[in-house]
Amino acid sequence: MTTKVTVLGTGIMGAGMARSLMREGLDVTVWNRSTDKAKPLADDGATVAGTAADAVAGADVVITMLFDVAAVADVMDTALEPMASGAVWVQSSTVGVDGTDHLAELARAQGVDFLDVPVLGTKLPAENGQLVVLASGPSTLRARVTGVFDAIGARTQWVGETPGDASRLKLAVNAWIATVVNGVAQSIALTRGLGLDPRQFLDAVSGQAIDAPYVQLKGKAMIDGDYSPSFELDGVIKDVDLILAAMEGAGTATTLATALRDRLDDSSHEGHGEQDMAAVISAYRT
Ligand code: NAP
Repeated sequence: MTTKVTVLGTGIMGAGMARSLMREGLDVTVWNRSTDKAKPLADDGATVAGTAADAVAGADVVITMLFDVAAVADVMDTALEPMASGAVWVQSSTVGVDGTDHLAELARAQGVDFLDVPVLGTKLPAENGQLVVLASGPSTLRARVTGVFDAIGARTQWVGETPGDASRLKLAVNAWIATVVNGVAQSIALTRGLGLDPRQFLDAVSGQAIDAPYVQLKGKAMIDGDYSPSFELDGVIKDVDLILAAMEGAGTATTLATALRDRLDDSSHEGHGEQDMAAVISAYRT
């Protein structure tokens, strides 16, 4: 029988994930707060529901891909109860450690099976089914979600049996992403500030051990001033706040993350919050 999957939240990531699920032949229903972002998915074969509660009725798997924990809790307030017994909630929004604990508790209170499933990768990998799926939760649930994870991801990394562990790993990865993007911005601004063509920085590191695909991708976007969003800057600020909270709990130094947060904040206040995180270079210009 075809697996019925509901995607709640069809922003940059949710829309791409829904398309990947449909491409693999799954039966997909979508819902989004602003219906204009969900409607185009009907052309690809999705059922577009009018409410979150309608969207989850009859689903085998429900994916949440919303901005933050408040949005997920708000949406699931009406959607948890109508979820069929036997449905699995795959929580993929980046909500951090405490956020995941809170949502897992909501699921437990309603008797709904819950998996903590943050993803790595941005707009294009979501559209191409090439995300890295980090998952934690009871291994007894794995067989019910394998087809879904294979459709959205290039691979799945099972982090552990406890919901929250995948989100912990996700924060460590996102700390790295925020660091790389800020590092590239700093060096491009410095190259330019020293009177050189900033392309020379990308050429100098190209293909060396100190290079990375992300260095070239985001560096080029910064030089070209192309900030069409793959991951909005305000979303990175939300994530750095989750990272800082996790660092406090883990007892690791917050100095660097605090500095990254400061630069991202500056750029957001300059009006770049809804642009791609590459726009953070605005905060490195003097
Ligand atoms: P996005 O394009 O901004 O989409 C955010 C979604 O959340 C939209 O569907 C939005 O609905 C919804 N939303 C926000 N507040 C809401 C509320 N109070 N009630 C109901 N819905 C609400 O963001 P995205 O990039 O797809 O990211 C979604 C999640 O994935 C975030 O947690 C993000 O950190 C995470 N993530 C993002 C990336 C990336 O590269 N973009 C990668 C991995 C993980 P409206 O359309 O109505 O505003």
